[in-house]
Amino acid sequence: MPDNEFELIARYFAGGKVSRTDVILGIGDDGAVLQIPSQHELVVSMDTLVAGIHFLHESDPESIGYKALAVNLSDLAAMGAEPVWATLSLTIPEANHDWLQGFSRGFFTLANRFNVQLVGGDTCRGPLAITVQLHGFVNTGEYLRRDTARPGDLIYVTGELGDAGLAMLIKKRKLAVAQQDYEYLSGRLDRPTPRVTEGRNLTGIARSAIDISDGLIADLRHILDASRVGAILYIDRIPVSAVFASCKDFVGPDLAWVDLAAAFGDDYELCFTIDARDRDKLRERLSDIRYTCVGEITSSTGLRCLLENGKEHMPESAGYNHFGGQ
Ligand code: ADP
Ligand code: MG
Repeated sequence: MPDNEFELIARYFAGGKVSRTDVILGIGDDGAVLQIPSQHELVVSMDTLVAGIHFLHESDPESIGYKALAVNLSDLAAMGAEPVWATLSLTIPEANHDWLQGFSRGFFTLANRFNVQLVGGDTCRGPLAITVQLHGFVNTGEYLRRDTARPGDLIYVTGELGDAGLAMLIKKRKLAVAQQDYEYLSGRLDRPTPRVTEGRNLTGIARSAIDISDGLIADLRHILDASRVGAILYIDRIPVSAVFASCKDFVGPDLAWVDLAAAFGDDYELCFTIDARDRDKLRERLSDIRYTCVGEITSSTGLRCLLENGKEHMPESAGYNHFGGQ
């Protein structure tokens, strides 16, 4: 067990496999020295995970390390940026070898996959909390933002929503589902795949974009508020996985499946809008993944949620209150 901070950093964090040519000086000095290529701009985002608030105290460290980077990768995906450098601020109650090893394994699994180099950070003792700052490149001017949706735009989501919410519900209510299904759902909660490639492929075509961390309804509202527009959301068109569909009866009479898919969050998919005339172009840009049109932007402000049968149904926006007022 390393008995000082320097040994700990050397052992768990300085040995990453990614070695980028744009890192002039990485971990080890008082600061990192980094080079932004010409005709590019830097996109920076930061997210903090606190034990007991963003993850359960008993969560396994590998998932925490993975997710600390995943949530930041998802933010950069929503900006259309290529992630390149990370810094990590780690506050830990004690230097526990198993915990640190698991955490760094989870973190570097994802860092290696996306060619992200850890270039610095800070380590101190205290109640468990993790902050990651992530840096990415865009070609000058070619980034996505949330305040640029226009009336008539079609609203899309990537992938499938609700798996993470259902996993959390199953955990909290101790519901009995098939082991295989539980593993799939909890994998989607603990190890989401950030839509980095898709976000980059959407630059130049998406008129606005955001990542879905707080739930589709809440995050779409951010686009609407920032863009000063409204939307109609066809709520039962929200795409769900086969496992979600087969388990959704477990949700219980107090909560509609669509509320879970639309309002829980932790999906880390992208929600974006395009000009309706760009539908064919979109098919070329997102040829490898499922994506679904779930609504349209309107000039009148406010969000209307419609079922296929024409009835209005507003999912409970604080769906996660069902899990005990987190
Ligand atoms: P200083 O006292 O000069 O701030 P630190 O001991 O905080 O030095 O950090 C030493 C080096 O290790 C720095 O390059 C810093 O960026 C890096 N570092 C510290 N903690 C971490 C961490 N958790 N992950 C990655 N790099 C870290
Ligand atoms: Mg320091």
